Amino acid sequence: MSVDFLTQPVQFLKGVGPNRAQVLAESGVRTIGDLLAMVPRRYLDRSTVSRIQDLRPGSDPVTVIATVVATGTIPGRRGRKRFEVVLEDEPGRRMKAVWFQGVAWITRVIEKGHQLALHGKPSRYGGMMSFSHPDFDRVDEQGPSLETGRIIALYPGSTNLQKAGLTSRTFRKIIYELFREHGEHLGENLPDHLIQRYGLLEGRVARRAIHFPRSQDELKRAIYRLKFEELFFFQLMLATTQIKREQVPGQVVAEGGELVRRLREEILSFTLTSAQENALADIGKDLGSGRQMNRLLQGDVGSGKTVVAALAAVSVIDAGFQATVMAPTEILCEQHYRSLGRLLAPLGLRVGLLTGSTSTAERRELLAAVADGSCHLLVGTHAVIQEGVDFHRLALAVVDEQHRFGVMQRATLFDKGDRPHMLLMTATPIPRSLALTLYGDLHVSIMRERPPGRQPVTTRMVREKERERVYQMMGEEIARGNQCYVVFPLVEESEKLDLRDAVSGHESLSAEFPNVQVELIHGRMKAAEKEEAMARFVSGESAILVSTTVIEVGVDVPAATFMLIEHAERFGLSQLHQLRGRIGRGEHASTCILMAEYRQSEESRRRLQAMEETEDGFTISEIDMELRGAGDFFGTQQSGLPAFRIADLMTDQSILDEARDAAFALVREDAALTRTDHRAMKVWFDTFVKSRGVRLSRIG
Ligand code: ADP
Ligand code: MG
Repeated sequence: MSVDFLTQPVQFLKGVGPNRAQVLAESGVRTIGDLLAMVPRRYLDRSTVSRIQDLRPGSDPVTVIATVVATGTIPGRRGRKRFEVVLEDEPGRRMKAVWFQGVAWITRVIEKGHQLALHGKPSRYGGMMSFSHPDFDRVDEQGPSLETGRIIALYPGSTNLQKAGLTSRTFRKIIYELFREHGEHLGENLPDHLIQRYGLLEGRVARRAIHFPRSQDELKRAIYRLKFEELFFFQLMLATTQIKREQVPGQVVAEGGELVRRLREEILSFTLTSAQENALADIGKDLGSGRQMNRLLQGDVGSGKTVVAALAAVSVIDAGFQATVMAPTEILCEQHYRSLGRLLAPLGLRVGLLTGSTSTAERRELLAAVADGSCHLLVGTHAVIQEGVDFHRLALAVVDEQHRFGVMQRATLFDKGDRPHMLLMTATPIPRSLALTLYGDLHVSIMRERPPGRQPVTTRMVREKERERVYQMMGEEIARGNQCYVVFPLVEESEKLDLRDAVSGHESLSAEFPNVQVELIHGRMKAAEKEEAMARFVSGESAILVSTTVIEVGVDVPAATFMLIEHAERFGLSQLHQLRGRIGRGEHASTCILMAEYRQSEESRRRLQAMEETEDGFTISEIDMELRGAGDFFGTQQSGLPAFRIADLMTDQSILDEARDAAFALVREDAALTRTDHRAMKVWFDTFVKSRGVRLSRIG
């Protein structure tokens, strides 16, 4: 495949001038490669065209091909006009198409005598069968070569594209010309052994067939091939990254010394779950391998990741090294500092805490202890760590709640001078296809199991009118010595309103429960104030914690057994799951109440229903992705999730698996991609990495 050809601007193609090139660029089509990768939004299959005389009102949408015999703009009420078209496919067989919107534009586009393919839902209107606002396309004047394809591609349309004359018909013409004149440049970019092994359609054929399919079967195979190719090159990038990383030397850490034994046997009050043991075994193997560890520990909320991190850290310290644990917020750092301190102090180990609020004097002393090795474990926010703290012998860096760190930050972490072993931990279970894409270059340990003896959390959606009853339940929990969270949403656009909600919620709860202490935490408070309030809740001094979503990650208070989530319909599903993960951590049964408005979208109703039905984070993440689409799964673009043009991570899991197997197997045999039969692929790959990889090659 000639990569040069594909990277040329579309402007040089027949039928595309500077004006159209400009409009195309606005919809992301700049190069010939972009144009070829433009996937038709729909195909009109002429073999399934219906005759007007066979149309039935209320049937599924159908396609009709007919000639315009009359058009007219008809005035309606309040000065609104509609545009009607009468069409005929056989003598005397007529139907109508009607537009109520975009009348001015449509009047210019459809003229008497045009032959149109229309796709719509038939209904009876004014004594005739009719489509209202059908998809349509002109099918005359296409030239004989385009007519032969029985399946016609329809392209994404926008007002701007239409204005520039870039209708589906024009697209077909431009792409047809492209193949006619330049087809020979479209060579193969996948090695033959892959084509054979996976039964793929040849590249050039697939690229043609997606625009001009000769049959449904060919179309299916073309789509498959192009999806495979797209996913393959992405996985190839992950595979080469992984291989490169695996060549980075790492400190050899011998397994299980005396400190580890004492931590397990004398300090921990429970036995580890087998999920925890398995994760530790993975980590132990990595630490002893002599190569840098790059492992992601994925465990649902409450699965007990902290202990795993503690044991990994102690085994490193046991071998004479230091470790660091980084977390995204000060509250989490504080908590880790306390809980890791409780585990490590009895072993005579020093744990330090370094955050934005550490005083200059403390900081100076602490950094000295880190530098001379007398501080064994440093807990801190990543901002502080990034400033280049000087360790005596750092061998392990644990990054908790890693999804909160941007992709770039992860890269910086990995590139840190000491090159410590990296253990990333996340409580956000993500669907497998996303994990393979986002973390596809990391080794992954998954902890599905939760520590034994946990009581399930009962989740129920309630309405405002049941509020009294909810408060009564809270009162009962508190009377039993348990604690409650009350959570308010915090949406940036309405930050002030949300804040007011939380503040007034705090007031009314204080009035409702005059005998207990009610804390309030929100994002506008000073870090120190937040920590004090949090500390009072953690110690059990206060019974209720009202907060905006700052408690979302990591907070661990086993006596908290009740959570009331206000305006639950405004939260995302995985966020709700994370929040709920704060309760059900002790041996008492817990309750989660989702207070929701009567009026909700269908989507939010399904979110809340999913919460009522399951506690399994992985199931929830799959539902979440289904509801939101893969691209939106993390809410922001900073997730680093690549935009695929043809493949869809939601539906193409099995193609992804094949493409991943293929890429990793290939790299195992030819790590540098220098084999002669990989030459064309390599050229293509280099361009691919250059165009998309700038950001991705730096994924940690
Ligand atoms: P997360 O994975 O969400 O970070 P934590 O590490 O905070 O979870 O652990 C949640 C709670 O479970 C803590 O109170 C911890 O002490 C407890 N825990 C961890 N492992 C076990 C175990 N094997 N058996 C019983 N309790 C455990
Ligand atoms: Mg945690």
